[in-house]
Amino acid sequence: MSGDDAPDSAAERDVESPYTLQREDGDDTRHAFWADTVADRVANREPDEPIVVKGGISPSGVPHLGNVNEIMRGYYVAEALRERGHEVRQVFTADDRDPLRGLPRTLCDLEGNLVDLGEVDAGALGRNLGAPYTDIPDPFGCCDSYGDHFSTIIQDSADALNVPIELISNTELYENGDLEDVTRYVLENQDRAREVLAAYQDKVDEDYVPFNPICAECGKVTETVTSVDLEGETPTVDYRCTDMDAGDQTIDGCGHEGTATLREGKMPWRFEWPAQWQVLGVDFEPFGKDHAEGSWPSGQDVARNVLEIEPPVPMVYEWFTLDGEPFSSSAGNVILVSDVLELLEPEVLRYFFAKDPSKARDFSIERLDQLVDEFDRLEAIYFDEIDASEDEQAFADRVYPLVVEEPREDRIRLPYTFAAVLGMTDDPDLREEIARREGHIPDDAPEWAIDGALKRVEQARNWARRTENEFDYELKRSAIPDHEFDDATEDALADLAEFIEEGHEPDEIQGEIYETARRHDVDVGEFFSAGYRLFFDESQGPKLGSFLAKVDREFVVARLRRER
Ligand SMILES: [Zn+2]
Ligand SMILES: [Zn+2]
Repeated sequence: MSGDDAPDSAAERDVESPYTLQREDGDDTRHAFWADTVADRVANREPDEPIVVKGGISPSGVPHLGNVNEIMRGYYVAEALRERGHEVRQVFTADDRDPLRGLPRTLCDLEGNLVDLGEVDAGALGRNLGAPYTDIPDPFGCCDSYGDHFSTIIQDSADALNVPIELISNTELYENGDLEDVTRYVLENQDRAREVLAAYQDKVDEDYVPFNPICAECGKVTETVTSVDLEGETPTVDYRCTDMDAGDQTIDGCGHEGTATLREGKMPWRFEWPAQWQVLGVDFEPFGKDHAEGSWPSGQDVARNVLEIEPPVPMVYEWFTLDGEPFSSSAGNVILVSDVLELLEPEVLRYFFAKDPSKARDFSIERLDQLVDEFDRLEAIYFDEIDASEDEQAFADRVYPLVVEEPREDRIRLPYTFAAVLGMTDDPDLREEIARREGHIPDDAPEWAIDGALKRVEQARNWARRTENEFDYELKRSAIPDHEFDDATEDALADLAEFIEEGHEPDEIQGEIYETARRHDVDVGEFFSAGYRLFFDESQGPKLGSFLAKVDREFVVARLRRER
């Protein structure tokens, strides 16, 4: 190839920035909600109806909360467009003709339980390395294939969040012939396809063919096409089944030489993604930062200069971390939507994804109370129950109705940590009684609102169990546990009761526990033990000061005085 014919480097090509939310365009209307900014961009193109919003996933590992990010981001843009009177389809492709490139260490059953590879038929998976996910038996035996199992969990997650997606199997798009014309077109224009992709991938040489047939003998996706025949009624390629390079290992080819139709294989991802845009008529697609630097620059170039279509409006979202670490199913740092919904209401999770996608965030299970508090605040702002800044008010007014099924002013939200305290007693009547006594449930509260409030107690209880936090104890409310204290300890407890009765912050109470013990010459460790004995009938327990601050004060004071 002579110097003059060399393709431009990627940097020289005109690559549209996919950072839609970070881009400042002078003529943009300022919106309180990011999804409206994106909806403007989509609507300004005057797309055909229905407008198509897409997302997608390759079915490897565990379909966790991080994977739902893309569904939820697309959903809010779809909703913003629907509100403007547009008909919108939200499609989500399972890129399930992708080959299995390595054995996942962790899998997940349909109930959301994580399962080690060793507990399923790993041999069957090992024999299928290199085969499309939809051709691999379901390791759990409950679905048609490995790919189908994964898709089922994704669909369940979207359903649980009440997000209507059309899940589309990429394998079906090939098998039904939906992708056949565009595959043929790419092969007819191989030279241009190669030239465009070579600006992004070094491995693209003159032997590169943008199609990977499935070997008829061993079922693996192969990369060595020896000839292309587009003349006959059914276009075909000839191939030789050679080794596939899969990261740190090689997947052996079987050497078979055969012929495949364009329905019996797949395009490489760099062409497949733009082909999906064309076939599905995609107008908007959010994606993670990995694609922003990788397949988006080539994808939009392929779309414009090979397929001659306009790529969708892009939007890069930030990944979020889970308790400060990246999601990793192999490292066990993973949570599913079904798990999260054991801990909080779906509207709280929907709220999490309504926040600005261009900012990196942490989803903290440890501090889930903060997220729930934030949601409760949003709700209270919406109903004008508390003061808020102008920005907060505008955000709440816009976003809250999209986050909940239906705004209901009579709802009751027990503060999450208070709900966790109630969860320390098993008796449902006692829970309700305390919530009423503490003023969280009004006398005229409707039944549905009370049910909703008490449901959160169960969720906060699950949270305490999962995190083993300070609420993961059984509070002995109904009777004082057996105890025997000396006079000094009893005097110290009386002092502490008086201090708490005055009303103090958690840290102050914690400090006072130390002070009181010293004043009365009681060993600090033993004084804490006395407290744990009185409340939990144990010698150890949570950080006592912050715990006592969260329990209803009347009870705490009476118990310290050993009155009940
Ligand atoms: Zn299954
Ligand atoms: Zn083979």
